[in-house]
Amino acid sequence: MNQQQSISNPFFSLNYESALESLDNDFFDLVQPANFSNLTLRFRNNKLLPILGLDSDKVTDKHFLDFCGRFKGRQSCLALRYHGHQFGQYNPYLGDGRGFLYGQVRLIDGKLYDFGTKGSGQTPHSQSRDGRLTLKGGVREVLAGETLHYLGVKTSRCLSLIETEAFTRDGETVRGSVMMRFSRSHLRFGTFERLDYYDRPDLIQQLLDHVIQYYYPNLWQQQDCYIYFYAELVKRIAQLVAQWMAVGFCHGVLNTDNMSITGESFDYGPYAFIDTYNPYFTSAAFDRQGRYSYRNQPSICRWNLEMLQRPLSAVIPFSEMEAALESFPELYTQAYQQKMLHKLGLDNLSLWEAEELIDLTLQLLFLTKIGYQQFFRELRLKFSLKWRESADFIRQDLEFLVSGEETAFLKRWCWLYHQLLFERSLDESKKIARRLEQANPIVALLKSEIEIIWQAIREDDNWQPFVDFIQLIQFDRDNSFKVSSKS
Ligand code: AMP
Ligand code: MG
Repeated sequence: MNQQQSISNPFFSLNYESALESLDNDFFDLVQPANFSNLTLRFRNNKLLPILGLDSDKVTDKHFLDFCGRFKGRQSCLALRYHGHQFGQYNPYLGDGRGFLYGQVRLIDGKLYDFGTKGSGQTPHSQSRDGRLTLKGGVREVLAGETLHYLGVKTSRCLSLIETEAFTRDGETVRGSVMMRFSRSHLRFGTFERLDYYDRPDLIQQLLDHVIQYYYPNLWQQQDCYIYFYAELVKRIAQLVAQWMAVGFCHGVLNTDNMSITGESFDYGPYAFIDTYNPYFTSAAFDRQGRYSYRNQPSICRWNLEMLQRPLSAVIPFSEMEAALESFPELYTQAYQQKMLHKLGLDNLSLWEAEELIDLTLQLLFLTKIGYQQFFRELRLKFSLKWRESADFIRQDLEFLVSGEETAFLKRWCWLYHQLLFERSLDESKKIARRLEQANPIVALLKSEIEIIWQAIREDDNWQPFVDFIQLIQFDRDNSFKVSSKS
């Protein structure tokens, strides 16, 4: 990068580190980005700029375009090599086929982060595919990242979305885009699986040391750091999938190449938030067997962790990893219960009470088909201290959600919820409103909402619903946390 560029564009003067690049070059291919002739900035994530240590007033749209669309400042980028289990089958023909690692930066929190692209052209891993990202795919990934982030899920986020020239896919002309992703790491379970496929225990050791030093630094000094790392990853993944389940998120393609080694959620293709509580809901149309259905996510994540044992066994004994993995169901259940209780405004229930309340809530949602997101939003909006006095007050406030026979299910639920409120002090009950506010956003990213947003873009090039949605979810979150930190 020449000095002139770095002075004028604040993105180029971030604290870059060649962490992955300094490893063995077997981990990546150097690639050139596509040279797009037509770039329109559609989304700039101003909320990420302070995190990068940048002042959003000083970052112009041109800075975004030069950095995220023209990839100035880099001679070549790293298309990462990886394999993975896709729908249960090992696939050695993967790798960054339409993206690359632009660079890695050390931020003021002391942590290393990745800038990775999607839709930036072909690479040696494209397998004759086009290397492109549709505009709709880009819009969907921006929405997923922001929504999950504001729901408290550890996730990658998009720094920008730039519309590029249209292209032809499956005989149809589609609008194109290129996206810049900001995440902890693009190293995947599949990065390790590939090294095992080529029988390279030396590189597995090198990569594992790298991962622990950079992403689990507190473990690095410990004597048994390798098994501690695996146990910590088991915990992070259990917590992550518990968060997805509680917020009603179905990732859709939980292949091992879409599992980050840092335990962060990323790569949003055919995801969906559940509309009603249907455990069998499957978001990817091509997932005919429902392997990645909403309810299968915990067991699939556990299976993915099991697949990772094979390459890691070059360094860590199988028996130790197996023992660590045995704690997955308990870690998952604990995290899920805690998240669900927060969505219900509660905390510190006995295990028995927590189970009863969560089971009854899920039964109510399953049998009545009240919208999953809607139910929790209504709890947040309608909650009142009067609910401590009688179950009837709760029922009166929520009755509009049900009809006919369903009223009986609601009545049972109101009775139990009232019991729990009644047992709590007035002070504790006041905290419930805050918890409900923090855990349950006003807006939900349902399929219908995405369609409304996309239709406005497709038919009228109207980006307002997209902008409004993101502003609303960001505002709601910032606001509910501000209110609670004051109280
Ligand atoms: P994904 O389903 O997005 O996680 O992608 C699975 C694999 O297919 C990865 O190796 C991607 O890089 C590759 N891939 C997906 N779409 C394309 C595309 N349009 N062009 C090239 N490679 C792609
Ligand atoms: Mg992927």
